[in-house]
Amino acid sequence: MVQVSDQPARVQEAMDEQLCRALSRLDTFAIVSVQRLTISNLVIRYQAGYVHKSPMTGRSLLRMFSSDLAIDLGTANTLVYATGKGIVVDEPSIVALNKKTGKVESVGKDAKEMLGRTPGYMVAIQPMRDGVIADFDAAEEMLQSFIHKAHQRKRLVHPRIVMGIPSETTDVEKRAVLDAAYRAKASEVHLVDQAMVAAIGAGLPVTEATGSMVVDIGGGTTDIAVIALAGIVYSRSVRVAGNLMDEKIIEHLRHEHSLVIGERTAETIKTEVGSAYPLDRPAIMEVKGRDLLKGIPRTVSVRDEEIRQVLAGCVSLIVRAIRVALERIPPELSADISDRGIVLTGGGSLLKNLDKRIQTETNLPVSLAEDPLTSVVLGTAKMLEDFSLLRKLAVSVLN
Ligand code: ADP
Ligand code: MG
Repeated sequence: MVQVSDQPARVQEAMDEQLCRALSRLDTFAIVSVQRLTISNLVIRYQAGYVHKSPMTGRSLLRMFSSDLAIDLGTANTLVYATGKGIVVDEPSIVALNKKTGKVESVGKDAKEMLGRTPGYMVAIQPMRDGVIADFDAAEEMLQSFIHKAHQRKRLVHPRIVMGIPSETTDVEKRAVLDAAYRAKASEVHLVDQAMVAAIGAGLPVTEATGSMVVDIGGGTTDIAVIALAGIVYSRSVRVAGNLMDEKIIEHLRHEHSLVIGERTAETIKTEVGSAYPLDRPAIMEVKGRDLLKGIPRTVSVRDEEIRQVLAGCVSLIVRAIRVALERIPPELSADISDRGIVLTGGGSLLKNLDKRIQTETNLPVSLAEDPLTSVVLGTAKMLEDFSLLRKLAVSVLN
């Protein structure tokens, strides 16, 4: 019997490590009693010898040896935040699958490196497309791999997980995400709406009666939401965001310059010289690709003005969706938004001068979240500290 009492929380982690190692040596063990007295003092009693078969009891206890995790499962990027550590995973949502063996060869950054360079039998899969799970198996592999990475591949960890999911996720997809997280040995999984957590992460006062508008421009979708009193008053998702912009750039270079480029090059062009409104200083970029007809490498230069035109269609659709949202919400909330303005988040909001363009078209103040790429995961992480807020905001799943 091991008895630990009145230990300050600071030393808890070191203690956990030791106990974890001791417990992992036992094939079977049971928890006779666990008492959490106060936040800073902990009394735990473990007793070996009695075989308890309920996995949940074991998991619930083992949760104490893990950091809880907040996960932003995005179309383009997945981020994982671990309590006490901060953001521990920030990688592209990509899985490289070996078709010969049916095995996943790599996930995240390593898999993105392979994108467009893979031999015939290797395929790079993006499990999330258009804000929804397009490939369930790949999504599960990816999630498990990132959860293990977050815990530095320790085997005996059972974290509590809070995950942001797009508002239009179906019940089947929600269940798939829950199952994947439980199979990755989570002790508890809670789902929250991405728009809500993006707003929290961007510092908006979501629980107040005043309405806030957040526009999250990601890889697959742009999600517009108006939030008041911890509820979503209006939400709409349009399938126009970063990926479509990249596709438009690929098409343009092919048709206008007879140059074939890959997705990664297109994304670089967008971030380097792409914009939504004229720039103060003109920008130009040399683009390397393959000549469409001759099949040999060739370089062309593109200017900001040219790329702005290529992206104009996508930008207009985003602006139009924001306008529709402004028309549909109750007048009181419109008044709040005209005072406080619109907050942009998500990687797509980093397109140069997009804020300026939206401001010009809506006549409303527009601001960018402090770090648009991390708003969702940081907002989700707040739920780990505030369980009463989580209870209020957790998305329910029908069986
Ligand atoms: P998701 O939540 O769908 O995973 P993110 O919020 O991570 O998406 O944003 C990813 C998108 O943001 C990608 O399409 C990426 O190309 C785009 N992006 C990232 N940085 C920039 C930038 N500086 N300018 C324009 N687009 C950007
Ligand atoms: Mg996102």
